[in-house]
Amino acid sequence: MRSTARVARLESIVARSVVPSVGAAVPARDPWAEILSLVPAEFRGALAAKLGGPYDADLEALTSWAAAPVAPWARPPAAGVQVPEALVAWVLDPPHRYWVGHHCGACGLAVPVGLDRPARPFPTCPACGKPTSFAAYYRPDPEAKECGSQPG
Ligand SMILES: [Zn+2]
Repeated sequence: MRSTARVARLESIVARSVVPSVGAAVPARDPWAEILSLVPAEFRGALAAKLGGPYDADLEALTSWAAAPVAPWARPPAAGVQVPEALVAWVLDPPHRYWVGHHCGACGLAVPVGLDRPARPFPTCPACGKPTSFAAYYRPDPEAKECGSQPG
């Protein structure tokens, strides 16, 4: 009797925690809502169109940037933060292939790095002017962080 009650209790716990996989309507989350809210309004339409465009190598890099526009330690971006116009314009029309390999050590903003050749279009952050680096993805630069800047 005691084990039957225990089994029933466990079954009720499982029933509450298991998400039905068939027929469950889960509202789709817009994966680009965050980045579209962070870019200047005049770029939102062009960025949304490009993110929804045909798949190619440029889209691969753009979606990497759009999905994670700041380093993990800088999340969530502070209210009112905007990605600088120069960066948005660059990723919308990149002069060469890139990947999102560097971040700002002060504010965490993600910036592109040349993929096929050594190119650093943003050796300093277009938002706060502090140095960008590969290491800044993992942690803020203590010297750059002193300014306490945020993108925008
Ligand atoms: Zn910065």
